[in-house]
Order: sequence, then structure tokens, then C-alpha cells
Amino acid sequence: MPSPRRTLVVLATGGTIAGRAANAHDNVGYRAAALGVDELLHALPGGPGLTLETEDLARLDSKDMDHATWLCLVQRLAHHLARAQVQGAVVTHGTDTLEETAWLLHRVLAPRKPVVLTAAMRPASSLQADGPQNLADALAVAAAVEARGVLVVLAGQVFGAGDARKRHSWRLDAFTAGDAGAIAAIEQGALRRFREWPSAEPIGLDGLPADSSAWPWVEIVTSHAGARGAGVDALVHAGVRGLVVAGTGNATVHVDLAQALQRAQAAGVVVRLVTRCAAGPVLAGRDHRWPVYAALSAPQARVELMLELMQES
Ligand code: ASP
Repeated sequence: MPSPRRTLVVLATGGTIAGRAANAHDNVGYRAAALGVDELLHALPGGPGLTLETEDLARLDSKDMDHATWLCLVQRLAHHLARAQVQGAVVTHGTDTLEETAWLLHRVLAPRKPVVLTAAMRPASSLQADGPQNLADALAVAAAVEARGVLVVLAGQVFGAGDARKRHSWRLDAFTAGDAGAIAAIEQGALRRFREWPSAEPIGLDGLPADSSAWPWVEIVTSHAGARGAGVDALVHAGVRGLVVAGTGNATVHVDLAQALQRAQAAGVVVRLVTRCAAGPVLAGRDHRWPVYAALSAPQARVELMLELMQES
């Protein structure tokens, strides 16, 4: 019996993959999010053999990603993934905040179908644009019946939502999964899988306030030499609800900053620790003063704490 899952949904949010510069040599001075999703797909020589449905959800440089767009993206994905004929979804996105969006989708939806985020480091107008190949690879992964979970596809590699990190400002293989490594490679449209697809218990849409302006305010502060507590005091005064501290090494915190964080906690602000190191987990066994998100980047931890606070209220 033929599979009923004959449709792929492609949701566009903008980014460099949809960027255009005045000339083909310019890989820096371009306008992100200039093209719509149908123009991106038009650049591909062929599709994955499934029916494509497209939506332009936003036209953002992802440095400007906001909670309203996140809410819309989560809602549209939940809607489409629940349809029996949908095999999976592709989301085109900027690279800058892609790991944050991926973590939000993973935690809220943890889908049994594939949701594949892809992006590009060079604009569509570039002499050697990487977007069309990345998009073709993302479609191939989303079309794979075995694939599941929130995935990130760039430069021929497939990463899990929690592992993906933007590690380079310029290179085409800008993303890494650190020690975890890639889940799979995508080679000439074929998947070579190394380990399990990501899975989790989803929080579900009901846990998200329907008004994104009501999402709890969470900021990131970094511990560093010469750190001072006045910035934290000002955030508490301004009404911040949660603080993620990107600590040094194994999530350690400068003594002056730690004092301010204690004052913040006494005022009801929730504090969580991560490491500011680019790779490696925070190891247990040390007497951390606040709970630790051992394996999240600081921007992902900000999403996690926001979701934690939503569950409480
Ligand atoms: N500023 C761009 C964005 O994140 C960078 C990119 O897509 O590579 O939207």
C-alpha cells in the first residue's frame, strides 16, 4: 500500500539563504530575507518527488528573530505535522539564531515526523551559493520515512536540535555538533546514519502563552574577569524573571557577580548556569550554587529557562 504521507511542507522565515547582494562577489554586504520560499525552491533542479506546500511565515534576518515569529512557527508546524498526508517539514532560517529555534521546536513539539531546519552562509546571489544544496539536502532528509525529530542540515551534515552550534562566522560548514557528532550525513540525496534520531517528551503547545509578549523575560549574563554585579541589579530592578549565567570553565562564577546573583535570587529571579566554553558539558560533582543545564549553549538555555518559567505560571 502506498504511504499516505506524500506531502512536504516548507516554511520560510528569511535568513541569508534568502539573501540577495548587488553583485555575485559580495558574500557580506547583502540583504537577508529578500526572496520568498517559492523563489528558493525554483533554484533547485528537481524536488524529492513529493508534493510541496509552501508558506512564507516571515522575512527576517534571524538576528532579529522574535517570540511572535517563534509562536507562529510552532503553531504552523503543529498544524501541519498533525495532518496524515504530511511526511515532514523543512524550515528555512538564518544561521545566527538557528540553534535557539531548533531547541524551542524540539522541546515544544519533539515530533515523530522530521522537522528539518536549514540555512546558508552565502546569499542566493553568490557565485557559489550554498543555499540550494542545503535546501535540496533538507528536503531529502524530510522526505526520508525513517527520519524523525527536529534536525539541522547544513553542508551535508545532519545534526540533532540540541547538539547544533554555530561555530564559525564565515565558513560554509559553520555548524558543529561538538563531541556528540552528526546524526547522519546526506550524500547525493542519500542518508548515512550514525546514531539515533532525537526524541523527547514534548511540552506541547498548551504550555505556551498564546500572547508571546507574555512570555517570561529571561536574559543571559556572562561571567568574566573584572565582572561586576551592577548589571544584574539593574536587570532585577527592570523586572527580569530569569537569568542564565554563562560561567567560566565548569560553570564557575566571578565572586562579585555571584553576590549580585544571590541578591537576584532573593528577589525571586530564577538563576541557571551553563558554561561559556564552546564545547564540552558541565560536570557534576562541583558544588554549583545554582542548577546547571549541563549540555546547552547559553542561548538554548535561555529558551529552556523561559519554558521552565512558563510551566510554573
Ligand atoms: N544574519 C543572517 C541570519 O541569521 C546570517 C545567516 O543566515 O547566515 O539571518
